[in-house]
Amino acid sequence: MKLRVCALYPELMNIYADRGNTAVLRARCEWRGLGFELAASSLGEPLDPDAHDLFYIGGGQDRDQIAVAEDMVRTKRDALHAAAARGAVVLAVCGGYQLLGHSYVLEGEELPGVGLVDLRTVREPGPRLIGNCAIEADLGTGPRVIAGFENHGGRTYLGEDERPLGRVLKGHGNNDRDGLEGVHRRNVIGTYLHGPLLPKNIWLADRLIELALDTELEPLEDELEDAAHASARRAAGL
Ligand code: GLN
Repeated sequence: MKLRVCALYPELMNIYADRGNTAVLRARCEWRGLGFELAASSLGEPLDPDAHDLFYIGGGQDRDQIAVAEDMVRTKRDALHAAAARGAVVLAVCGGYQLLGHSYVLEGEELPGVGLVDLRTVREPGPRLIGNCAIEADLGTGPRVIAGFENHGGRTYLGEDERPLGRVLKGHGNNDRDGLEGVHRRNVIGTYLHGPLLPKNIWLADRLIELALDTELEPLEDELEDAAHASARRAAGL
């Protein structure tokens, strides 16, 4: 069995060490004797919806999102829709998360999203939403805490029938108003949480591998990983 991951725009969409997310997926697979393959698709490059089990996009500054947004609609939107429809995992963090929706409106400009989920992001007047954050989420194995760090100027609003990834326990979440964080539709997951996300929430890394490969994983010895999770929870004030 092999996990095939494709990182979208890895050289542009990678802040707060978001690349650590794919490093953790690799380690969790290899430590169990599972194969792991990491491909990339960047500006102007096509995307094969059937060649990967998990599609990943990290966070980015506004200027990187400007470079990426139209290209992503042009060269990857259809493939992402096809991949999501067959149940592949799509994981998007912060700037990448914002581009999964319909649009990201910043000063005088509207960046298009790929429309994989029903949400809109707007840069409203007001401070950036920064700090440690913790949410409660259920990915089919009961409620668990996801802890990380957020730093975004954009505020995200989910459409009426769209589900969040979780409820905010501490921090700002999607927009600092409705107590919701991220988005979760079938195996498409978007979140504002860096940390990076998966090294700090190893249960989530394993769950995503399970969903991507439609399998159940054996536990590993996770003393250090559990300590990292506890420290991220403490940092968020839990
Ligand atoms: N540039 C986006 C914003 O400020 C996303 C930032 C990020 O990925 N941390 O809202």
